[in-house]
Amino acid sequence: MTSYKIALLDGDGIGPEIMAEAVKILKLVESRNDVTFDLIHTPFGASAWFECGSAFPDQTKAVCDEADAILKGPIGLSHEESKKIPVDEQPERGALLPMRRRYNTYANFRPVYLPKGLAHFSPLKPEIIGEGIDIMMIRELVGGLYFGHKETGINEDGRRYVTESLEYDEDQIKRIMKVAFKTAMKRKKVLHNIHKSNVLKSSVLWNEVMEEVHADYPEVEVINILVDAAATYLCLKPTMFDTMVMENMFGDILSDQGGGILGSLGLMPSACMGDKKAYYEPSHGSAPDIAGKNIANPYSMIGSVAMMLEMSFGMDMEAKNLWHSMQSVFADGFSTADLSKEGSGVTMLSTSDFGNKVADAFLKTSNA
Ligand code: NAD
Repeated sequence: MTSYKIALLDGDGIGPEIMAEAVKILKLVESRNDVTFDLIHTPFGASAWFECGSAFPDQTKAVCDEADAILKGPIGLSHEESKKIPVDEQPERGALLPMRRRYNTYANFRPVYLPKGLAHFSPLKPEIIGEGIDIMMIRELVGGLYFGHKETGINEDGRRYVTESLEYDEDQIKRIMKVAFKTAMKRKKVLHNIHKSNVLKSSVLWNEVMEEVHADYPEVEVINILVDAAATYLCLKPTMFDTMVMENMFGDILSDQGGGILGSLGLMPSACMGDKKAYYEPSHGSAPDIAGKNIANPYSMIGSVAMMLEMSFGMDMEAKNLWHSMQSVFADGFSTADLSKEGSGVTMLSTSDFGNKVADAFLKTSNA
């Protein structure tokens, strides 16, 4: 019997609601495999700050340090509510970035996936979706503008100023490129390299290193594309993309656009991989506008479980079963409130009902 310790960071807003559905699935996986999951809930984010005076408390660090994998719910408050927390302790600066730094989770995998049969969820026309959208966005997660030098103060003219630097060294670029080329090799062997080298020197180095790494993966075709153009093509022709690689902030923005073209951020799970530790989280935020209503879409959270099963525990078959089960609920004519309007011919499910339907479908799959 294999045993894994999983740190569960419920987070804020819709976090606890969608985490409950992820836990439901983990218990099913446990019940039909030779595996036990030691599930440890621990505070993280704004709720942790109010409860323990720190957004990333020591007790949570200790649990995460010990864990075989971390499953994280979204964190954050509404714009107005977040002003109750000092700027440097607000959830992203006080918890999320420190966690990424602590575990050096430099490679963020964000699948943007919508099969043809679910084209009705997308705001794009069916002819644009064609045979379906299937993109793996790979975002560098511990460098660039979000982790560079920051300074605020008063300048010589007595004006408030701020400086934030976009910083990368060649090793940081090399390791994310290796991840991207290896991923492209397993997929269609086409890599879209997203950059802004017409303006940013950081992108010039990014592209130089990309070409050096490309020499080790000659079978992969590289298509270079400026980030602004990539944003347009994601709307006009998303099926032209397969594997994409990009720096931290470009990835933050383009992956949310990815959620937009699918129809909702609720369809966006993710994996954040370091060499020694990984954590899994929905790509979206805590959705304070719908928190506590049992209407959030837990697909992103359950999909993050599927990624954890595959990428941290090597349970590829159960991961596939889970993806299949989530898709089958939609294919059976059900929807969550973020994806469809009442009266549009689908049966609307609450957060917990969606989790129950996925659980039922999962139990019908075979893990042999
Ligand atoms: P958001 O992603 O929380 O929400 C944007 C929109 O998408 C909202 O209309 C929301 O209702 C909807 N949405 C998101 N997830 C959904 C789901 N699973 N089901 C149904 N609808 C869903 O973005 P925001 O409102 O800009 O940010 C809210 C808070 O989240 C902020 O404090 C922000 O800093 C934080 N945030 C955290 C993370 C993270 O934890 N990694 C990521 C992004 C934003």
